[in-house]
Amino acid sequence: MKIHVLLRFYEELNDFLSIEKRKREFTARSDDSTTVKHLIESLGIPHCEVDLILVNGRSVSFSYVLKNSDRISVYPKFESFDISTISKLRGIPLRNPLFILDVHLGRLAGFLRLLGFDARYRNDYSDIQIVRLSLEEGRTILTRDRELLKIKQVTRGYWVRSVDPETQLKEVIRRFELTTLINPFSICLTCNSQLEKIDKKKIRGKISPKTYAQYNEFSICGGCGKIYWKGSHYRSMIRFISENGYI
Ligand SMILES: [Zn+2]
Repeated sequence: MKIHVLLRFYEELNDFLSIEKRKREFTARSDDSTTVKHLIESLGIPHCEVDLILVNGRSVSFSYVLKNSDRISVYPKFESFDISTISKLRGIPLRNPLFILDVHLGRLAGFLRLLGFDARYRNDYSDIQIVRLSLEEGRTILTRDRELLKIKQVTRGYWVRSVDPETQLKEVIRRFELTTLINPFSICLTCNSQLEKIDKKKIRGKISPKTYAQYNEFSICGGCGKIYWKGSHYRSMIRFISENGYI
């Protein structure tokens, strides 16, 4: 049987809707066996963008089956207050955020690593690999491809709105409230492993004598063995970080 429901989407969820549906209540036709999740996705909104669904004023899960005349409000992640006591969609907030980025977001991955965030990225990952790693390692998928987020198994994901890498970084920092977790130069920019401080004597012969003489503090990547020191590259990155207000 066909039914009618009233829908309204809030805040940035409107980014996914056609203009006539944005920021206003509208009517949608559906079958009476359809879940609210299916309806939301059929309108182009990946389920992992949604944090709270109210039907006739009550919080419901994605598996809620629609009834005629339901009035549905759909909210994205709230920026300003904790909804964990009322939302049925997500248990605990993400604490130690881990990311995996699709093949088009290499520069964003580099920026996230620079700020100390674990951001898995390879330019040859398939969609299936990205989803699998996301599930196995509890990583949030960052992507510009909405279709990737509509894959049923995806539980954590975010559609990056901007196309400019520096703006993307700001967007992700804001969306996931990462400001207090920024810890620059703790992750290898090349392979995404943790950096560890290393005694200068242990790396004698592995770097140029000039660098060895000039610097005293070194870190080494636990994954690929790359050695880091606070040279001109480090200073230019610090400038980038501070100019953007990250530290
Ligand atoms: Zn490395």
